[in-house]
Amino acid sequence: SIYYSIYSGGFSLVRSLLKKYNIKGGTFDQHFLVDAGYLDRIVAAAELGPEDVVLEIGAGIGNLTERLAKKAKKVIAIELDPVLVRVLHDRFDKVENIEIIAGDALKVEFPEFNKVVSNLPYSISSEITFKLLRHNFKLGILMYQYEFAARMVSLPNCKDYSRLTVDTCYFADASILMKVPKSAFQPAPEVDSAVIRLVPRPAPFEVKNQAFFMDFVSAVFSQRRKKLKNAILNMNHVLKIPSIKEVIARLPEDIISKRAENLTPEELAQVANQIIDLKKSFFENELNEQ
Ligand code: SAM
Repeated sequence: SIYYSIYSGGFSLVRSLLKKYNIKGGTFDQHFLVDAGYLDRIVAAAELGPEDVVLEIGAGIGNLTERLAKKAKKVIAIELDPVLVRVLHDRFDKVENIEIIAGDALKVEFPEFNKVVSNLPYSISSEITFKLLRHNFKLGILMYQYEFAARMVSLPNCKDYSRLTVDTCYFADASILMKVPKSAFQPAPEVDSAVIRLVPRPAPFEVKNQAFFMDFVSAVFSQRRKKLKNAILNMNHVLKIPSIKEVIARLPEDIISKRAENLTPEELAQVANQIIDLKKSFFENELNEQ
């Protein structure tokens, strides 16, 4: 087995690895982060110590994996592409604190971890982030396509403010740590990237029914330029709110006459909660009348 060290970050070593295994990249979102400066800054941001168990999604040829393992108690690296899984085994089978899981990160059951550090496959950004957020962890340092990261951390009244912003804000504090240029990758992607610091925490506002809140946010942002009351009406084939006109008549006019894109996550939660309460009270009234 061959142990290639690219710890110093030489592009030429990465190139020789890609050549040896005949890896072209490009498929499966394969853009390997090879710039040592960015690799080091990502590892530093994870503030790793000997207690930390790190999950890495899409370990690629292991350039981040190698650095993480030098600082953490353990690194569990998931990789989908069998060719890259072979590279990882060749490089790390003798490294005691690296475990490799071959498979689709969307399908495999995640092991216990307290930090997640990854240069994510961008095409599964949303699904993988919300899968991660169903787990209990302390800190995530995650690379995304820049536009996606911008939507995660946006504010009301901004063009990037979206369903993704509200869902992220519900589960975690998120901030952009750094923008990463295309030139830091091999092969270079067509888009810029950004590293997000993600800290899960309880929602800073009340949500009475999480499933309904999520559906509600998704529905009203699909009509982001409509007044909320019209968005709710137009999307009621999805939301299935009974007695919809009566419900809307009882919602706060000052909020529902604004657009979803102009409302804070808390205001959206407030409306979703009121709908849940109204549904309940209409249901109880119906029972009393019977
Ligand atoms: N961590 C490496 C680095 O920084 O150079 C590679 C990052 S590359 C952007 C994304 C990696 O995720 C690729 O190695 C790709 O094969 C892998 N990948 C793509 N889809 C995946 C999935 N569903 N589950 C696990 N890994 C996946």
